[in-house]
Amino acid sequence: SLSEKLESVFKKLRGQGVMTEDNIKEALREVRLALLEADVNFKVVKDFVESVRAKAVGTEVLQSLSPGQQVVKIVNDELVAIMGGHEDNSINLAAKPPVSLMMVGLQGAGKTTTCGKLALHLRGRKRRPLLVPADVYRPAAIDQLKIVGKQLGVAVFDSSADQKPVDICSAAMKFAELNGFDTVILDTAGRHQIDDFLMGELAEINETIRPAEILFVADAMTGQEAVNVAAGFNDRLGITGVILTKMDGDAKGGAALSIKAVTGKPVKFVGMGEKLDALEVFHADRLVSRILGMGDVLTLVEKAQSVFDEKDAERLKQKLKKNQFDLEDFLAQLQQIRKMGSLESIMGMIPGMGKMMKQMQGAQPSDKEINRIEAIIRSMTPGERANHSIINGSRRLRIAKGSGTSVPEVNQLLKRFTEAQKVVKQLQKLGPKGLLKGMGGLG
Ligand code: GDP
Ligand code: MG
Repeated sequence: SLSEKLESVFKKLRGQGVMTEDNIKEALREVRLALLEADVNFKVVKDFVESVRAKAVGTEVLQSLSPGQQVVKIVNDELVAIMGGHEDNSINLAAKPPVSLMMVGLQGAGKTTTCGKLALHLRGRKRRPLLVPADVYRPAAIDQLKIVGKQLGVAVFDSSADQKPVDICSAAMKFAELNGFDTVILDTAGRHQIDDFLMGELAEINETIRPAEILFVADAMTGQEAVNVAAGFNDRLGITGVILTKMDGDAKGGAALSIKAVTGKPVKFVGMGEKLDALEVFHADRLVSRILGMGDVLTLVEKAQSVFDEKDAERLKQKLKKNQFDLEDFLAQLQQIRKMGSLESIMGMIPGMGKMMKQMQGAQPSDKEINRIEAIIRSMTPGERANHSIINGSRRLRIAKGSGTSVPEVNQLLKRFTEAQKVVKQLQKLGPKGLLKGMGGLG
């Protein structure tokens, strides 16, 4: 994986004061490959890697971070910034009702499905949507939207395939106004490629209706050509946003980066399945970790640091170094984990840990389990907490009774702790000291 490769690259970088062309070359190469693998357009990749290089070279390596974390931070921050960071991605509903939203995109991208999803989303926000079938070319396209409307209990404008799309849309706007629909969702036709005739029709709708939003719907699996398709729609129509569909599949989401880079228009939603409630608001940071295929080291470090007392972290680091991590520490760490979120989500943020988590499946505790674990550890003597190997059968029974649990549960905890110790050892091998520090919370 990228993170594993980066780790080895960064190991070599450690201890160097400043990032140079030379000492980040390898890391940037890996970043470039990861982006290409995620199907980001090669031109976009080139520009991106250049901007990271420019940012990184000459930058001092911060004391609290390893150079690895720092490059990860630059790569991560740059990508998040390109993807719009934390900017407001909501649908523009400010216009005088009826507000019209026009869906455009290639055939099969997911326009019709997304119309339904959007209607459901908007209804949840107290809007009264009207679905408008304006795809008069694909057989049964009108019926498809009618079925979607019926499933949702959302009104569908009555159009027929012998009408001109622009006439359907105009009539629908009037109908909406007269019947109190405040949001009109226009479902348009698509082709397999950009097509002049179709673009002309869409442009006509745009000029007549002047939709509040023209949302370019794109299949996340779209590869290198995502750039051309998006540019084609944007140049002709001036899209206002992007909806990336089929992100529930294997797509790494590189298309999002390509489209954003070439159009500058924000990704607003992500389609996460065929079902009509499978629409999520877009989060730049999630997409970025998906594209890079790496855990978000920095989120972890920040999260951990905000909870951890520096001294505690230092003390723990020393213990980890000497392999003295015991059940007492385990208890303390469980409490930290509780503050930070689930163990699983924290593990997921560390490069390489995903795999380890799979191997340990079932070993990570839920909140309720943490309660039980706490009770068990509290029923042990300090000596037992420091060295659990001295806990024999009769003591296990006493501990079980004292904690209101059972012997199998005590056994399970001890087994789990032994596994945790193994993880700690593996983390030590992973090395970067900033990482270790940040991960003090991993029992
Ligand atoms: P259109 O031609 O652009 O209107 O595309 P459709 O809405 O008809 O969708 C084409 C296919 O993609 C259908 O089989 C949809 O169920 C499927 N689809 C749409 N959005 C998603 C999504 O987010 N995830 C998945 N897995 N399938 C989707
Ligand atoms: Mg359709």
